[in-house]
Parts: sequence; C-alpha cells; structure tokens
Amino acid sequence: MKVNIDNSFKSRFKDIWRLIGNSPLLVIEFTFKDQPRILYAKAEHFSITGSIKDRMALYILEKAYKEGKIKSGDTIVEATSGNTGIAFAAIGRALGHKVKIIMPDWMSRERVEIIKSLGADIIPVSKQQGGFLGSIKISEEIAANEPNIFLPRQFSNEANAEAHERTTGPEIWCQMQYHNLIPDAFIAGVGTGGTVMGVGRFFRSMNPAVKLHPLEPAESPTLSTGHKVGTHRIQGISDEFIPAIVKLDTLDEVIAVPDGDSILMAQKLACQLGLAVGISSGANLLGALQIQNKMGKDAIITTVFADCNKKYLSTDLMRKEPVREDYLSQHVELTGFKVYKRVCDTCCEMYDCGVQMKEFQFPL
Ligand code: PMP
Repeated sequence: MKVNIDNSFKSRFKDIWRLIGNSPLLVIEFTFKDQPRILYAKAEHFSITGSIKDRMALYILEKAYKEGKIKSGDTIVEATSGNTGIAFAAIGRALGHKVKIIMPDWMSRERVEIIKSLGADIIPVSKQQGGFLGSIKISEEIAANEPNIFLPRQFSNEANAEAHERTTGPEIWCQMQYHNLIPDAFIAGVGTGGTVMGVGRFFRSMNPAVKLHPLEPAESPTLSTGHKVGTHRIQGISDEFIPAIVKLDTLDEVIAVPDGDSILMAQKLACQLGLAVGISSGANLLGALQIQNKMGKDAIITTVFADCNKKYLSTDLMRKEPVREDYLSQHVELTGFKVYKRVCDTCCEMYDCGVQMKEFQFPL
C-alpha cells in the first residue's frame, strides 16, 4: 500500500536526512612494511548518532511511513547489538515514537547508557535466554501480543541494504569518480550485512567486475561455517547467524581479521592520525589491506569506518593489547590522510542539502 505522508512529515524526514549521510571519504596514507600505500574509508562517525546505522534506521522508517506500515503513536521495537538501537532510539524520538530495544546483556555499558539517555526502554537478554537470537524472538513475541508495534527487522528487511544502495554506495562512487578513481574492491564487516550488500549492489551496477568482500572476526567465523562459533571483541559484527539479507553467493571471498589486530589498528588510527574510530573500523582497514596485498599494492580498495571510539571506552580498546606475530597492524605506519567531501547529484536529490557539486579538501 502506498500512503501519502503529509507535508510536515516529509519535511521532518528531509531535516533528519540533513544530519545523516553525505559523510567525508577518508584517504588513509600509510606504509606497510615500508612500502607506501593508500586505502579509502567512508567516515560514518559523522552522523546524528555517530554510526553507519543511522542511514538504514531513517530509510526504513521513511519507507514504512510511505507504505503505511507505521503510523504516529506506534512503538518501534528492535533487537540489536547496539548501534541500531542507538539509531532507532534517536531517530524514533525525533519522529515522536516510543522505542523499545532488546539487546544481549554483554554489550558495552556506553551503548546501554546512550540508548537509555535517548528515552528508550531496554530489555537485556542473557546468553541463557538465547542471546542474540533470543532477542529477535522476544521482539517478534512483543509484536504478536501487543498493539501498535512497528518492527524494523533490520536482519531481514531489504530496505536496510537499499539504504546503502541509494546513499552510501553512490556517495563513495561520486567522491572517488571526482578524483578519477574507480574502486577495485569494497569490504565491510558483516553485522546485518546491509552495508556490504547495499554498497556492493550499487558498485556492481557501475562496474560488474568490482570485488565485494564480507568480513568477519577470525575468532568467530559465522559466515564461513554457517553457524555461531567462538566469541570475539569486534562489537557490531558477526551476530551468531547469517542474516537473511546476506547473499553470500553474490559476494567474493570472506575475509577474516583477528579481534586483537583490529583493536591495535583502531588504537593506531586514533593515536597516530587523530581518527577516533571503533574496533570494527580497525578490522575493516585491515581487511582492506589484506585484499590490497592480494590484488596489488596500487589496488583501489574502499571500506567504511562504521562508528567512533566513544562507545568502547570501557572495553579492551582502551587497554594495552598484546601483539601477535601474525598481526598485520604492527607493519602499518600511518603517515597522514586527506578528506574528500563532495556531494553528488544523487545525494543532493536524496538529502536536498543544497551544496551540490562542491568539493572540500583537507588540509585546505
Ligand atoms: N560495525 C559496527 C560498529 C556496527 O555497529 C555494525 C552494525 N551492526 C557494523 C559494523 C555492520 O554493519 P551492517 O549491519 O550494515 O553489516
């Protein structure tokens, strides 16, 4: 069903889009074993709640309004490992909804406190209650038993990947194209898989030969084995099962990155470059480096920095991490970065941001 959402709501969505997306693309300059290298990362911590999940939360809600699947007064209920909860708590409130978040009880304290600070209710779920899968089951039970509930269902909702296909993908492509660059590969750690599937779909539509790599923690190889194995410290990815929106047969090889190496890489990005990003960003950069090592030192590999480090101040990210012989980060010396911030026509149409075709370079 297609519903005409009233103009005040349309402009509400437009306003919130102005706080989400159109993020800078970072050009990370470094040496690997003394050889100069470059990798590209979309800086998603520049968003209303500081993570890549804002894009899909707003997109899913906008689409649901247009299709009449959510209405004013409904409560948004979602099972999440954190960033999605924060995104729905903030954007849900900005649209006037109550929000209930169901999440495993081992997620960082900061994530829980941020969600609470946004006025959302949290239902913590222990390992004994089923952990992540248990959280999803509880959200379905609430929807079945209570009236006026909207379930975004980020793991199975195609609009999640579509958000990245319509925003993140075109943005990266345009930012690179402006500098005469065409990506050879894209890699992203898989939580719901929305990022890798959506950006991947757009990239393939522009260049069918582009490689698309999902990434997972080496300690918890769910994508490669098909089920939950082990535990890991890269919050936000590898949530115990392969989500329905992930179509592994359309993707290239799964890349595994150790969590300790990811922590060391995220620490280096913060203390060598001043880029305070989360653990999955460290993992993504190392995954991109692994692919570059395979494809050639000049291969153009893009990834995302999914969030900032503030949600991990109580975790091992702030502790001294032992270095292991097989880690790649010890051979990486970060030497600098540039920033591409250009807004493309597609993005302008989407966000109505009014800064069409402008280019900002840093340092000025
Ligand atoms: N990194 C972090 C920190 C995340 O919170 C998430 C989302 N759970 C991801 C990466 C993975 O993103 P996606 O869900 O689009 O696969």
